[in-house]
Amino acid sequence: MVGMSERPLLLVDVDGVLNPLGRPSPEFRRYQCHVEGETYTVYLNSKHGTRLLALAVETGAELVWATTWEHWANDWIAPRIGLPALPVIKLPPNVRGEFGELFKTPAIAEYVAGRPFVWFDDQVWAADEDYLRAHPSVGDFLLVQVEPGAGLTATDLDYARNWLRDLP
Ligand SMILES: [Mg+2]
Repeated sequence: MVGMSERPLLLVDVDGVLNPLGRPSPEFRRYQCHVEGETYTVYLNSKHGTRLLALAVETGAELVWATTWEHWANDWIAPRIGLPALPVIKLPPNVRGEFGELFKTPAIAEYVAGRPFVWFDDQVWAADEDYLRAHPSVGDFLLVQVEPGAGLTATDLDYARNWLRDLP
C-alpha cells in the first residue's frame, strides 16, 4: 500500500491548459472572473474537470494547482469544471531563472519533495526538464507540454495515464 506522501502528483496550470489562449471550440464556455479588482475572461470546458478527476482516481494521484491563479483557481476555475478545491503551489514572481527555467520550476521542485509527478503546462521547455533532472529533491516526473491554443487534450491525458501506469 502506497502511503499518501508517496502518491504521484498531477500538477495543473490554468492559462494555456484549462483556459486555451486560442479560439476555443464550442465545448468551452466563457466566464468572467473578478480577482483583486481586475476582471478576467476565461474559457473553460467541464470535460477537463471530469477527465482530470478520472485520471487522478484511476492512478491514485493527487491533483494540485501549479498556476499564477494560486488559491483563486479554487474560487473561479475548480467549481466551473466540477473539480473540488485543490492544494495550491505558492509561486514566486514571474521572472525567468538563471538557468533559463520557468519561474514556477524551482517552487515545483521544492513542493514535490521526491514524489513522482506529471506537470501539465504550456510553458515548460527543455531548460525546465534540465533543471528538474539536476535537482536533488526531484524524483520521477513527466512534463506534458500542452499546446496553448488548444488547451489540454485527450492525447495529453493519455500520455500522462500511460506514464503513471508504468511507474514502479
Ligand atoms: Mg500557462
